[in-house]
Amino acid sequence: MKDSNFLKEHNARSMWHPMAHPADSLANPPTIVTGAQGVRITDIDGHEVVDAVGGLWNVNLGFSCAPIKAAIAAQLDRLPYYSTFRGTSNDAVIELSEELRRFFAPDGLTRAFYTSGGSDSVETALRLARQYHKIRGQAQRVKFLSLKKGYHGTHFGGASVNGNANFRTAYEPLLAGCHHIPAPYTYRNPFNESDPAKLAQLCLAALEDEIAFQGANTIAAFIMEPVLGAGGVIPPHESFMPGVREICTRHGILLIADEVITAFGRTGSWSGSRHWGVQPDFMCTAKAITNGYFPFGAVMIAEDVAQVFEGDKTGAAAIGHGYTYSGHPVGAAAALACLAETERLNVPENAAARGAQLHQGLLALAEKYDVIGDVRGGHGLMCALELVSDRAKKTPIDKKTIGTLQEVAYRAGAMVRVSGANVIMSPPLILTAADVQVILSALDQGFAAL
Ligand code: PMP
Repeated sequence: MKDSNFLKEHNARSMWHPMAHPADSLANPPTIVTGAQGVRITDIDGHEVVDAVGGLWNVNLGFSCAPIKAAIAAQLDRLPYYSTFRGTSNDAVIELSEELRRFFAPDGLTRAFYTSGGSDSVETALRLARQYHKIRGQAQRVKFLSLKKGYHGTHFGGASVNGNANFRTAYEPLLAGCHHIPAPYTYRNPFNESDPAKLAQLCLAALEDEIAFQGANTIAAFIMEPVLGAGGVIPPHESFMPGVREICTRHGILLIADEVITAFGRTGSWSGSRHWGVQPDFMCTAKAITNGYFPFGAVMIAEDVAQVFEGDKTGAAAIGHGYTYSGHPVGAAAALACLAETERLNVPENAAARGAQLHQGLLALAEKYDVIGDVRGGHGLMCALELVSDRAKKTPIDKKTIGTLQEVAYRAGAMVRVSGANVIMSPPLILTAADVQVILSALDQGFAAL
């Protein structure tokens, strides 16, 4: 490693950081992380904190997962790369596919299509959804519906179904035929409805209305996160996703569950869809599938959708889609080890228990500090605080104040993520009760400093 003076001097000089203004990164150089153990990261100055971001919602098993590291090293040694494009395969990816089939059987998902990450998984599901309808002779079903506040990655397809202007406006025009309905976001919504069950019904009615307006037979798929993540951790009422499933089924619209964050235990269940008792037609996964140690993803496909492709005799089901790294053997080996550890440690159980503890602690902080307008969580280890400068008016907090909170909390021992007026927490799922206390205490100190 270069010495720390060199690194600090050149920080952000020759690279642009994702999701940041290049001038901001130059003016406020990003924290340089140089090491990590368990659920803690260490920066270039030797300051150690609990990583309440869990990498980027992906390091579910922490930074010291030896079986995954060993599997990656062994696979690199034996077969570091081979493609799975027509004509070749590799042993690791075959084994992984059988494991994923077993793992996702309760979700009704029996085939995998591999990708290099979440955005690729979303793109894959959107494309396969259109192809599915073409195979069935419904070529006019090309539109996509999604939720405002949803996040589905950065490719043009994903950006087009994204529901946050920050990720869209600069890159318009986007894909035609993508339409959005209000999210079941109780704190702010166009219906002024704060009751989660009633709001879910209003959002479902809005979905029905949009389908009628667009024409059901023009719509390929509805895509949603079981719990909205990057949009600010917005868990819907339990009736919402089952309601979406029922509406989609009734109108012949495919349901794509974007579980790039929620799959593999984050919500306290093995998948977000299972959490709500729903079987989607496609499920996008990535991130925690390799614990963040290797860029990898998988789109899981429902049995009846798979049969439509596999039963095609016309050639329409030939898949003209795939990535150089689809089914990468090192990614597959990492995912196999990760899946085994995830099950061995029964991480959803811990995610549910520690998530409840964190959520309770955040509710207690909200009693103490008026700047906390909304506390969201209660479904595993994904929580958010929405900060306001005026509680009654719900005025979003300014960037500088929330930046101060983040900085003081970091000094006090916890890395949290800031997105707009939200403080987001998605720590590793192996977190202990004591680690939760560290996060809460760091936030307490942060709020006290405002
Ligand atoms: N979908 C969801 C729900 C996500 O949260 C993300 C990333 N945060 C993506 C898609 C995109 O994944 P990636 O950044 O790996 O491309």
